[in-house]
Amino acid sequence: MAKVKVATEWLAGCAGCHMSVLDLDERLVQLTSLIRITSSPITDLKKPRKVDVAIVEGAVANSSNVETLKELREQSQILIAIGDCACFGGIPTMRNTVDKSEVLRYAYIESPSTRDGEIPSSPELAKLLDNVLPVNQVVKVDFYLPGCPPSADAIYFALSELLAGRVPVLAGDNLRFD
Ligand code: SF4
Repeated sequence: MAKVKVATEWLAGCAGCHMSVLDLDERLVQLTSLIRITSSPITDLKKPRKVDVAIVEGAVANSSNVETLKELREQSQILIAIGDCACFGGIPTMRNTVDKSEVLRYAYIESPSTRDGEIPSSPELAKLLDNVLPVNQVVKVDFYLPGCPPSADAIYFALSELLAGRVPVLAGDNLRFD
């Protein structure tokens, strides 16, 4: 039987959701008999090719995130938003309470770690969006797996249900908000 091709990606977040995937431990090894991770921030291949399932962590904070996310959506049949940042914006949306120019001024001019006091303007750099967005405000999402981060049990349950051709319905006690 052909393995299900899976890509994972992280946008604006803390990488904690990917750490939760690694917490699957031996179950990750079991899953490798059914799935093949084709690209991921934790594998050599970073860019997604055509995959069956894409798992995305983090919110959308800049132009590079938008580009990455649209490409991932284009390449995948099923897209899962994993973690609160991807599902509804989470912690990165705290920036939305402050005007973007203030954020840049603080980061590059007023911050104690500032060195040259200049907001970078190179066209090669990703541009901050005016507001941080959850994934579904940029592309269609097929499944949501909330939590901060979602537990390894919740991730395993969702993946197992999908692999069995069922729609995963998470019980409330399987949600984790650390
Ligand atoms: Fe990190 Fe929580 Fe966001 Fe996941 S949901 S990326 S653990 S802050």
